[in-house]
Amino acid sequence: MKEELYTIPVNEALEQDGECLFCTLNKKLEADILNYILGPSYMEEDIRGETDKLGFCKKHYRQMYGEQNRLGVALMTSTHLKHVRGELKSLLDREAAQKPAKKGLFKKADESGSPAQEYLAGLEDSCYACNRMESRMKSYIGTFFHLWKKEPEFIEKIKNSKGFCLEHLEMLLREGKNRLSDAAYAEFLSVIAPLEMKQLDALQEDVDWFIQKFDYRFKDEPWKNSKDALPRAIQRLAAIEVED
Ligand SMILES: [Zn+2]
Ligand SMILES: [Zn+2]
Repeated sequence: MKEELYTIPVNEALEQDGECLFCTLNKKLEADILNYILGPSYMEEDIRGETDKLGFCKKHYRQMYGEQNRLGVALMTSTHLKHVRGELKSLLDREAAQKPAKKGLFKKADESGSPAQEYLAGLEDSCYACNRMESRMKSYIGTFFHLWKKEPEFIEKIKNSKGFCLEHLEMLLREGKNRLSDAAYAEFLSVIAPLEMKQLDALQEDVDWFIQKFDYRFKDEPWKNSKDALPRAIQRLAAIEVED
């Protein structure tokens, strides 16, 4: 399958010089998707069909509710609820109509959950926004490696960036192994590893200085780079942005 190339958003995100290129991309993507689904598009049938079926995860329900477009959220919630009620009723009815399996000899064979329970479990992980973000993220990774292979300036830009959070570093190492030849992967690593370690070392210093500043003997010392060291460290470690 050919991946779409998104060189503009990738280069734009790189210019923002955030703590992690992919976190920057993700944040923009999430905002765009929420705007999109709460904008006029909630009336478009194909999208509504998908949100009806998939619903949203906890995080995205919370975000959408916070966006103040209560009518948009209510419309989507109403039709998703209708879809869930229909599915659940037929699964529960079917289950109620089944004869209870004889316990005993064959008890072990019947350990899978009931269809209704499995449907509900699947619904917990189901989210229209997460799905869209995931598929766009795949394209961004494709673009990243496309630029890496084709444009030496891109490699320079990465060298001068702040590197990646641990979650996205893991993703890059995994994807790099899959997408690059052994020699190209070794070269990739020779750029990414020192970049990442340098950033992590600096971050350690900043967090430790932040801690020192709590000591009254250091209270008049300059903050250096440590004022926002804690949120930066949390983003680096957990790929989340925390705000005051
Ligand atoms: Zn990240
Ligand atoms: Zn979600």
